[in-house]
Amino acid sequence: MNLNAFEFLDNFALMALAAVLYGIILRLEYPREVRRILGGFMFGAGAAVSMMDPLRVAPGVIVDLRSLFIGFSGAFLGPVAMLISLTIGAITRYQIGGIGVVPGIVAMTLAGCSGTLWGHLMRNRSRASLRHLVLLGFMLCAGLLAFLLLPPEIRVKAFKNAVPYAAACYILGALLLGTFVERERFSAMRERRLTNEVNTDPLTGLLNRRGFQRGFDIAQEEIVSENGAAILLVDLDHFKKLNDTHGHDIGDLVLQSVGAILRKAVRQSDLLGRLGGEEFVVYLPNASMADARNIAERIRIGIETSTIASKGKPLPVSASVGGSWSSNAMDLTTGLKLADMELYKAKQAGRNQVHFTPTIKSAA
Ligand code: GH3
Ligand code: MG
Ligand code: MG
Repeated sequence: MNLNAFEFLDNFALMALAAVLYGIILRLEYPREVRRILGGFMFGAGAAVSMMDPLRVAPGVIVDLRSLFIGFSGAFLGPVAMLISLTIGAITRYQIGGIGVVPGIVAMTLAGCSGTLWGHLMRNRSRASLRHLVLLGFMLCAGLLAFLLLPPEIRVKAFKNAVPYAAACYILGALLLGTFVERERFSAMRERRLTNEVNTDPLTGLLNRRGFQRGFDIAQEEIVSENGAAILLVDLDHFKKLNDTHGHDIGDLVLQSVGAILRKAVRQSDLLGRLGGEEFVVYLPNASMADARNIAERIRIGIETSTIASKGKPLPVSASVGGSWSSNAMDLTTGLKLADMELYKAKQAGRNQVHFTPTIKSAA
């Protein structure tokens, strides 16, 4: 068994590559579960590659960083990802063969479970410190217990030579790979938060104008408007008077309550935004004209019958709704313009009512 610094340099490059790929996967615009599964495959591949250039303890007995990768999969991506990496790792180890197959697979399983446990213990912390990463390294060393499954003569040799080396690799590796991975995770999280903030109205938590436009563009690509699509503009009636009478804070409270009423009135796939002031917008990407009218009416009634109160007295809140409907894909500018004209009609006709355009001629 000959050790040298280059032995570790390979592993270092592999860890750096894994961290970069982890960062790329985290930033993909896929659902979290899909990203986790992809990460599981990536760490599994890392484990497989690390077995290509192992330290040979005895014929058929090898030491490498596979347990580190599988442990990390569990620690940073959860049990499903860990099982994926473990499967890839176990198949690779089985293919290599030799007397160490069973202990090798047991070692990976132990490390995967310890990593997952560490991830579970860390679930409420936003960032792992160096101390936590060292702990992870020690926990991954649990996998080394699998050397006990080797025949006695190899076991002694392994404990003398390979175990201290492997333990050092795991602890140092956990620190290095952990630092890389945490940096990626933290910066991806910050990017996501900033993007969210840029697109969100802080008062109501609904989308702002920019976020609504962005959400609308994504919905246009992803949702087939089988039944047609609608835009509703919801504008509170005499809101200036309410502000003047009860104060701006109460006005803000009313805006928040209206946000909550809107959320309850629509489906998860519908888009809700606050365009500014006391004007809200709803996009129903897949709704018939009748559905859209019903939802608009439900929103109007929800606001009228809300029990928003100031100093124990219910506030007189109502809204006018203007809607436009298209039999297929909708153009936002046109949709908003038509809805705005209907809103104007609703205000003119005495407020607290819904007005709708007749079917827009299909765009295509
Ligand atoms: P109408 O029935 O014709 O819509 O009358 P209105 O008073 O609701 O409409 P107008 O556009 O004249 O007034 C809107 C008011 O909304 C003016 C402003 O005081 C208030 N407003 C705009 N943004 C905010 C906000 O963020 N918080 C609060 N509390 N009030 C706001
Ligand atoms: Mg108004
Ligand atoms: Mg207005």
